[in-house]
Amino acid sequence: MNENLAYGFDLEPFMGIPTFMRLPATRDLAGIDVAVLGIPFDSGVSYRSGTRFGPRKIREASLTLWGHNPTLKVTPLEVLKVIDYGDVSVIPTSIEHTMAAITSTASQVLDAGVRLISLGGDHSIALPLLRAHASKHGPLGVIHVDAHLDTWESEFDHVPFSHGTPFRHALNEGLIRKGEYLQIGIRGPVSAEQDYADAERLGARIITMQEVIERGLEQALHEVHQRLSGLVYLSVDIDSADPAFAPGTGTPEVGGLTSYQLLQIMRGLQGLDLVGFDLVEVSPPYDHGDITAVLASNLVFEFLSLLALKRR
Ligand code: MN
Ligand code: MN
Repeated sequence: MNENLAYGFDLEPFMGIPTFMRLPATRDLAGIDVAVLGIPFDSGVSYRSGTRFGPRKIREASLTLWGHNPTLKVTPLEVLKVIDYGDVSVIPTSIEHTMAAITSTASQVLDAGVRLISLGGDHSIALPLLRAHASKHGPLGVIHVDAHLDTWESEFDHVPFSHGTPFRHALNEGLIRKGEYLQIGIRGPVSAEQDYADAERLGARIITMQEVIERGLEQALHEVHQRLSGLVYLSVDIDSADPAFAPGTGTPEVGGLTSYQLLQIMRGLQGLDLVGFDLVEVSPPYDHGDITAVLASNLVFEFLSLLALKRR
């Protein structure tokens, strides 16, 4: 029996406190490889909110991740020392204060030499996370899996920060290496024809959903590996999945990735030097039977598996 009765695989998944994968909840970073951090913030959304409940639900859905990944042939928690770092103390009425808190909490983890996995929250959290990672490692390659470009100038006049703008700021702030920003799964109606051109002008290589279907996922992943040359940050918006596979999200777009294609994307990143990951836009109030949260928790498990493979 685990001395700390609250956690561990000696408990059944329906017992105890639902930390991510029943990991210890602690802020002690000594000897730790990876920290899982919740960021329950959804005041950056332009349409329907609810992702503030995402981290808690993803943790709950993670309780039946049994440990071994038979596809990648690795048991991540045997290779890596992982903890649940708890949540960032967000302020729901202030995106500026919250962004500062995110960067500061993320930096605490990164400065201890620990890798960070962040559970959103809406996609606005990617900018403060990228700031923390780039200040630790320098500019990064970024893979951004999403239905949406998220490189818009502003969704509301003169308000720079929202879940539709993080990657514009990240590119403009030099947090991303030139030519090493790839978007996968982009689709759906946009406001204007220039939206795509604008993202490309900023430096995005847009692999649309149409391209994924027509050229095949393998080709897309091949290009990802070709273009990326150093440390890589991964940001996955759960609305990259089709609403049939991820109904619990704020801005669903039809014609998206299947759950299995998302797993294939994760597994296809094997070999890259991944330094950070955020999984965003899971909105439990719109979910059905926890479909979306279960997918999200499995994507985090795949990411842990990739880190473990790299370490081993
Ligand atoms: Mn997004
Ligand atoms: Mn999106």
